[in-house]
Amino acid sequence: MKSLDEYLRDAEQAHGHLCAGQVLGVRMAMLGLEKLGIHDPVGNREDRKRLVTFVEIDRCATDAIGVVTGCRLGKRALKFRDWGKMAATFVDVATGKAIRIAAKESSKALARTMHPELDSKNRQQMLAYREMPEDDLFATQWVKVELPAEEFPGYKGDRIVCAECGEGINFRREIQRDGRVLCRACAGERYYEPL
Ligand SMILES: [Zn+2]
Ligand SMILES: [Zn+2]
Repeated sequence: MKSLDEYLRDAEQAHGHLCAGQVLGVRMAMLGLEKLGIHDPVGNREDRKRLVTFVEIDRCATDAIGVVTGCRLGKRALKFRDWGKMAATFVDVATGKAIRIAAKESSKALARTMHPELDSKNRQQMLAYREMPEDDLFATQWVKVELPAEEFPGYKGDRIVCAECGEGINFRREIQRDGRVLCRACAGERYYEPL
């Protein structure tokens, strides 16, 4: 594993700037890997194939988690649950072990008291989140994550065609409705309205 500073440099480059979220994300991911005993998920092929990460927010920290873990949406190793929470779960698919790590709500107030001399909240947090002991920053919990076959990065399955729109559907995301096979949009879960 690289050092915190090295990861922060990588994260800054990937994300476009250094911010409190990058520090939080890098430390969260480093802690997750350490707990799972996965040392080099970016460089080592065996380590890389072991790891699946669930993120619960689409903010700065998520980019940093991707940098440290090497888990990416396009590789199906990064799973997004849109819950608006600063938390992530790191799953070792080789052993079935999984740990969920959430940033403590109290860490924000603590950051303010650690560096009152700094004028901006972001600078206070950026520095404090580097220095803060793990236990002040994060709550950790061992969990069990059911990962069906189609959720695994390397899953190969048949593509199904939606009976309504004719578009192809992968990874068993189809829905059976009154004897027809539909995509989620045609089944009523559209996030868009056709014009
Ligand atoms: Zn940011
Ligand atoms: Zn459809």
